[in-house]
Amino acid sequence: MEKGISVFVKRDDLIHPIISGNKWRKLREYIHFAQQNKIKSILSFGGAYSNHLYSLAFCGNILNIKTIGIIRGDELNSDSNPFLTQMESWGMELYFINRKDYHEKTIPSSVNFKNTLIIPEGGYSELGMLGMKALCSELDINKFDHIITAVGTGTTLIGLAKFLNIMTTGILTLNNRTEIERNISELSPNSKNIDLNESYIFGKYAKENTILDHFIQSFSELHHIDIEPIYTGRMFYGLFDLIKKNHFEAGSRILALHTGGIKLSNGSF
Ligand SMILES: *Cc1c(COP(=O)(O)O)cnc(C)c1O
Repeated sequence: MEKGISVFVKRDDLIHPIISGNKWRKLREYIHFAQQNKIKSILSFGGAYSNHLYSLAFCGNILNIKTIGIIRGDELNSDSNPFLTQMESWGMELYFINRKDYHEKTIPSSVNFKNTLIIPEGGYSELGMLGMKALCSELDINKFDHIITAVGTGTTLIGLAKFLNIMTTGILTLNNRTEIERNISELSPNSKNIDLNESYIFGKYAKENTILDHFIQSFSELHHIDIEPIYTGRMFYGLFDLIKKNHFEAGSRILALHTGGIKLSNGSF
């Protein structure tokens, strides 16, 4: 590539068509914990399009673990979108709560959560972060001087920075820098190798979204790697733009983590 910069992609999107990427990295730890501690059901939170809950519902179905999903939006039901319908048919119990209760993570009184593991929203916690240890053990770190990933809760970013100990850039996808900084100080207070970037949040102007959509389309055509607009599209856009702006030293070897997130249908939609 120009400027002698090499970009490598860790294809965590190829882990599985449904439980792809970092959702599997995180869930694996929780499921393992539940199995070891004879916990029979797992509860978590998410929006109506949550990759995290969708993956959890799938895992629960194939591993025979009861799953409970607390969904943001009491105006919704299991027919509101095909993902919710699919989650329910995989056996996940769905509860729809209003935004205020969701914000406070109130579990409805009708939910029986005895002997249940509660996973924080997005799989955020020390346990979720441990999943990145397995990811890092698959990498030859001598080959890279920099890693870049998209940020939701920051669990993936913080884990990478902690277990690889090389410079780690996180591309924010929401205006949540304060939350991410708090998460960093909670999960990895001494980390000095995290660079948070909030220049690629997009979304405020339709024009910007058109730019992102065009980028995603030409990226997929050129590299034959699918990306989506919420996380990996912004991350790759940001990476290319940062390279253009000489953010990285000439000769840098950058590993971009493809965190997955491309939901594929299983035939029913
Ligand atoms: C959920 C998700 C993220 C965000 O991961 P965090 O660990 O919460 O920061 C990034 N990429 C994809 C594709 C995701 O689905």
